[in-house]
Amino acid sequence: MTKAKSRILGANNQSTKMQNRALVLKMICTGTNVSRIDISRQTGLSKMSITNIVSELISEGLVVIQPEQTDSSNSSAAIGRKPVSLAPDTGHHIVLGLYIARDYAIATLSNLKCEMTEEKKCTFSFEESNISFTDKIKTLIHSMLDAGMTEGKKILGIGVASIGPLDIENGVILEPPNFHTLKSIPIRQILESEFQCSVYIDNDMNASALAEKLYGSAKDAENFTYVGVTNGIGAGIITDSELFTGDMGFSGEIGHMTINCEGPRCACGNTGCLELYASILVIVSQAKSTIALGMDSALTELAVIDWKDIVKYAQIGDKFALSLIDRLCLYVSIGLVNLINMFDPLTIYIGHDIALAGSLAVQRLQSYTEGRTLSSKYKRVPIEISSFGDKAPVFGSVAIVLNQLFR
Ligand SMILES: [Zn+2]
Repeated sequence: MTKAKSRILGANNQSTKMQNRALVLKMICTGTNVSRIDISRQTGLSKMSITNIVSELISEGLVVIQPEQTDSSNSSAAIGRKPVSLAPDTGHHIVLGLYIARDYAIATLSNLKCEMTEEKKCTFSFEESNISFTDKIKTLIHSMLDAGMTEGKKILGIGVASIGPLDIENGVILEPPNFHTLKSIPIRQILESEFQCSVYIDNDMNASALAEKLYGSAKDAENFTYVGVTNGIGAGIITDSELFTGDMGFSGEIGHMTINCEGPRCACGNTGCLELYASILVIVSQAKSTIALGMDSALTELAVIDWKDIVKYAQIGDKFALSLIDRLCLYVSIGLVNLINMFDPLTIYIGHDIALAGSLAVQRLQSYTEGRTLSSKYKRVPIEISSFGDKAPVFGSVAIVLNQLFR
């Protein structure tokens, strides 16, 4: 498993044309009421080039001219003729997204605006084999395509946002910790041969960061970090508007930074890793064990406790539930402080399961990181919930394909 050596590529007329076309398509798909004049102003391309590119995109069913909107507050004679707005064509192409978590997968259909039109879920059990796992994934996607009114529409690709580690170059899920002993799944090859379309794969944290960059609050941010907390914890890092991937795509694994060198052994081989202290799995398990010792909390009324229950009870003021969220945030903040010191982000977006805790998490994370970074005298790094909340990796799976289209 080696990464192909990168080549320095020159630009010829054809590749420049393709780059310009991708740029124009990206502006139309990720913007609102974009006109040819807006594109010309922002890209420096000539109006003639833009007109040619837009005509091509319209004929290929990727872009439409928006019907003129009447504005009763202004007379068109007074303000002059409004420029024609362009929008992504949502009628001819679809993008298929697949988020693979530890215990379940979610498949979605989306249009070029990253708007979901269909969503289906399947779950995995502890007895899963590589064969039963891939059968479930194929059945899930087929059932969604059958239900999703896809006739006459072209699939632009399948985006797979998966828990890692992954061999992104070859499209293989390697051996994620605690993944029901599943390993070495050539997911790209399996899906390409089953569905006869291009398949792109990335880890769920990178995918979530891409969704935030293309369609979320971070469209204009050149440097930001997405942090997802679920059964594990990881980060998707955007530097200079590009995803920071490292040599082979293993970057952003903040869940495996040591926070206690005398701590317990982690499945990754390291000791005292952050995610042994700060994950949804750990917090739920702590809730159960503390309640078994006789903790006084309304949570004791429940037969089975999950993360959503902890959030729900914390929101109505249950002290024990609040203390669990507090503890989670205290540990997650260690990861955030390290990320701020390393990457100097403009903003940190948090998503995956922790997003369900909303302001309860944001306030604590903000307070635990304040004054603990070298830059804190000079700047404040706001911590915000991802635009896609706990669904960030689901939208991220779609963003993986759209990001390819815009390149
Ligand atoms: Zn570890």
